[in-house]
Amino acid sequence: MKKATKQQSRRHNSRLVLRTIYQSDKISRADIARTTKLTRPTISSIVSVLIDKKLVVEAGRGVSGGGKRPLLLQIAHDAHQLITVDLGSHEFRGALSNLNGDITIRRTILTNGDKAESALHLVFKLIDDLVEQVSAPILGIGIGTPGVVNQEIGVIRQAVNLGWQDLPIRDLLTARYNIPVYIANDSHMAAIAEYTFGEQRDSSNLIVIKASRGVGAGIVINGRLYYGDGYGAAEIGHVVVVEDGETCRCGNAGCLETVSSSTAILDNVRQSVPDADWAYIMAAVEENDPLVSQLIADAGKYLGIAIAHLISNFNIHNIIIAGRVGALGQLFLQSIRQEVNRRILPSIAADTHISLSTAGTDIVLLGSAAMVLQHELGVI
Ligand SMILES: [Zn+2]
Repeated sequence: MKKATKQQSRRHNSRLVLRTIYQSDKISRADIARTTKLTRPTISSIVSVLIDKKLVVEAGRGVSGGGKRPLLLQIAHDAHQLITVDLGSHEFRGALSNLNGDITIRRTILTNGDKAESALHLVFKLIDDLVEQVSAPILGIGIGTPGVVNQEIGVIRQAVNLGWQDLPIRDLLTARYNIPVYIANDSHMAAIAEYTFGEQRDSSNLIVIKASRGVGAGIVINGRLYYGDGYGAAEIGHVVVVEDGETCRCGNAGCLETVSSSTAILDNVRQSVPDADWAYIMAAVEENDPLVSQLIADAGKYLGIAIAHLISNFNIHNIIIAGRVGALGQLFLQSIRQEVNRRILPSIAADTHISLSTAGTDIVLLGSAAMVLQHELGVI
């Protein structure tokens, strides 16, 4: 066997063992051998390296299968930390989490409309602050950002809200912190969060729609995010759905974001209730306020049009609605379902399950953690 091939096979086996341990609560070396089909000596040698690297710990003894009770192994969840970042358009949120994705420390910075260079400095400030709080070696930094991202070279090609164009953010952050950095579109991060930690994590195909201030989607096919040839897969927010509609921040008119984003809903409500904020809208939904209910139903209807196309193109059965607008609940979901059912073949509609995400506001942070775990450890 050539040296390179040997190294590759060792790395493959090591990742396989680590993934097997990660996916179990506690597991013995014998059960790892049964699951992975690797030999006991190979497993023992891999496990001892993983223990030295503080990725795995011994965790007591299990039930005896006849002889001596076997030593159990588990992931050393708190021996490493991850930095995760969600670059929203009005606030940047960051967190430290352990290897389970459990968040231990959070930080938020309001962007106050900062763009370009000054927005980049806020990213540095947020991560600087998190780095100061670190209590274990950092495995990597994961960042979800709006816009189109070439995640292979870590460049934000275009993020309209933040005024970034061709920003080599990965190189800038790697030079500053000397830690591996992974960056992807925030809706793509939401999709990997659902695939890794969500209720539909057993599905190998998923579509996650994230409707907040921006609207986007992420598609997981055969357990892998589909980025598209130009990294803009499922960038549905700027598809025109209203002829001669409102001007969009992208420069076009009538984009999906002008009718289905939280900003669009808020702007529409403010035409009747000038001082309305998002809390007002949430309360109005609870009280079945007719004006707000109608605006939310309209937002759901337009999103339903876009989702009908995604379903027909991919024939993926599980569709999850996440983000701030998704948190509006059943009314929004029902209008989406109604519109989808009206626009696709009944046999396809019957097999399609559209549900609301339960990941809450941490969805992009969770996806960013999953991205680091996938690349650094191969456990996902
Ligand atoms: Zn647009």
